[in-house]
Amino acid sequence: MNIPADMAALLRQGLANHVIASQLHTSPAKVQATRVALGLPNLALGPQGAASVQELFAARTEPLPGGHLRWTGTITRDGANKLRCRGHNYSAHAVAFRIRTGRDPIGRARTSCDMPRCVAPAHVSDQTERARDNAAFNALFGGAL
Ligand SMILES: [Zn+2]
Repeated sequence: MNIPADMAALLRQGLANHVIASQLHTSPAKVQATRVALGLPNLALGPQGAASVQELFAARTEPLPGGHLRWTGTITRDGANKLRCRGHNYSAHAVAFRIRTGRDPIGRARTSCDMPRCVAPAHVSDQTERARDNAAFNALFGGAL
């Protein structure tokens, strides 16, 4: 297997698959395959690790009327809501998505409600869900809008 040097370096830094995939514009599945090829362990996202990331997420959010959740944590220069836990960087949207679905987002997790930057788990969708919702919308309304 051809192992890209930049991906290997990011994996050795301990970044999550979806974070590396986002940085290198590739899929989390390819990052995971490289992780396996390098013999690197999966990130500790079991009950203890997940609880910790979720606790940090909860501590950096503020419930708003309408079920929205405002991010009060770090916002990067490019406008992303970021969370750092045990030396790993996480997208707050990806964490919210994982809280709701139990899996990492495919593509980028984004706010799907009308409140900019909302990170309520129910208000965050991934590329797969957006494509599905757009297809359903077009099936109902013929894409006429
Ligand atoms: Zn919302």
